[in-house]
Amino acid sequence: MTENSCSGNNLNAAACELLERESERLGLVFAGAAGEETDRNFLSEYGRWLDEGCAGEMGYLREHFPLLRNASSVLPGAVSVLLFALPWPLPGLEYPAGNGFISSYARGRDYHKVMRSKLRDIIRSLSPLYPGASFRAAADSAPVPEVEKAAETNFGRRGRSSLLISERQGSAFFLGEIITDAFIRKSFPEPADPCRGCDRCLRHCPGHAIRGDGFIDARKCLSYLTIEFHGTFTDAESSSIGGRVYGCDECLLSCPWNRRRKVSSFVSDFKERGALLTLTLREKLLLSEEEFLTLTEGSAIRRIGWLQWLRNTACAMGNISRDPEDIPALKSKLGLSVPLDAEIRRASAKIAARAGS
Ligand code: SF4
Ligand code: SF4
Repeated sequence: MTENSCSGNNLNAAACELLERESERLGLVFAGAAGEETDRNFLSEYGRWLDEGCAGEMGYLREHFPLLRNASSVLPGAVSVLLFALPWPLPGLEYPAGNGFISSYARGRDYHKVMRSKLRDIIRSLSPLYPGASFRAAADSAPVPEVEKAAETNFGRRGRSSLLISERQGSAFFLGEIITDAFIRKSFPEPADPCRGCDRCLRHCPGHAIRGDGFIDARKCLSYLTIEFHGTFTDAESSSIGGRVYGCDECLLSCPWNRRRKVSSFVSDFKERGALLTLTLREKLLLSEEEFLTLTEGSAIRRIGWLQWLRNTACAMGNISRDPEDIPALKSKLGLSVPLDAEIRRASAKIAARAGS
């Protein structure tokens, strides 16, 4: 553990004050500082969830499971996890249905890049207070149970949707963290259960993925299916995806806390990038790989790759298109991958049936 000559309460207070000030300057919210150990009850619930197969193809979650117990697996000697929230705009579902849906969090710059760059700025400001200390910034890039850690600081509570809910921030924010061997603590008054008397996300979840116990069955979640799952959809999965090309926002949009959240501005990085949103589904499908890579430069969407983008777009066309001219466009993409071919055949049959009815 690293301390300096003015260690103790004064140093902790100075660090927390600096973290609040710097967070605000950077468009972040300082979400508290927790200890290195993870709550054992959470670990056993999470282990059960993995054993039940609810993580689907996300095998890395099982590989990382033993590392979640203590932040020292990420940074040797770590004693603190500093949490930061970065809210993103949640505009709703209001752009043309024929363009296919893209999750609100992915409409601007890739949050991993935005968050990590801001955390590095914070480390630069904080490190003079702790000479010799080590710091590591992470945003979805280290095995840290960030929702659980932010719940430990009482920044919010895990809702039935599995998302962390903060009374001020709702649930539409990213979490990032700094792991350090400097001792820093900050917690908030314990919040009330945000889900008391509410089951809106359960009722609105189009995949029936929300179990109600704070965990979701990822295999049924449309965000998982369109982003993490690389295989061939079943008929039922394909239909449940509807007009979505990337992700699903229903559990965010249905949650009353996101209507009440008190966020007045968002970082400019999250300004919507027009092109991908304004293209029709057919235009999205006809993008070459090069065009896809150009359009998604700096965007989280790029991570799924061109073939998965085409698979998802074909699926969305099959679910919502009534235009028979989409069928030759679909067939022009045959032969690129097995999951895409399956979606093209299914979509073509659905459109033909709809156009003929
Ligand atoms: S993202 Fe959509 S499908 Fe997944 S849990 Fe939320 S509402 Fe359900
Ligand atoms: S919609 Fe209701 S039940 Fe679901 S997370 Fe929000 S408050 Fe909780």
